Amino acid sequence: MLLKIVQVGEPVLRMPARPLTRDEIRTESFQALIELMRETMRDAPGVGLAAPQIGEGLQLFVVEDSREDPRTQREVVPFQVFVNPRLTIVDATPVEFFEGCLSLTGFSAVVPRALSVRVDALNHQGDPVSVEARGWYARILQHETDHLNGIVYIDRMRSRTFMSQANYARHWSEMTVEDLRKTLGDLAEGEG
Ligand code: ZN
Repeated sequence: MLLKIVQVGEPVLRMPARPLTRDEIRTESFQALIELMRETMRDAPGVGLAAPQIGEGLQLFVVEDSREDPRTQREVVPFQVFVNPRLTIVDATPVEFFEGCLSLTGFSAVVPRALSVRVDALNHQGDPVSVEARGWYARILQHETDHLNGIVYIDRMRSRTFMSQANYARHWSEMTVEDLRKTLGDLAEGEG
């Protein structure tokens, strides 16, 4: 069974999610929810899914990434569950790449993210965990934590790079992000 992924404009995506107790985490129904989110994320397919995206205002997200790409510092991330996460920036150096969201189907944009972060959270059993991440994984963690605070990537994107994924593939995919931003910036009057 798959869960329905809600799209931007759904109020739950704009509200702060509520934290969970350890007792709640250890219930059968919560464990079943985690399993459904894993299946839904894999089917989408996506590398992260936050509870508000399936209509639940809970401080919960799951991640899993099976791809590698040295250009974006992307490495394999095993399936992991984060409950009540607290995100700390470790290295604030901004890194810019195209980013998408399962709640904004068909679009993407360049989003600056911190190079390195730490997330302190509870795992699927309600035990404390601390994860430090760099590059693409750090991007995923920032994106998913944002969802729990009612923030979507369009709030942080370089807005002139917002485009359909089809047009990205058609016109821009061969360009580096730096050149693309420069080109789009130069097309704008009064922008450097
Ligand atoms: Zn998202």
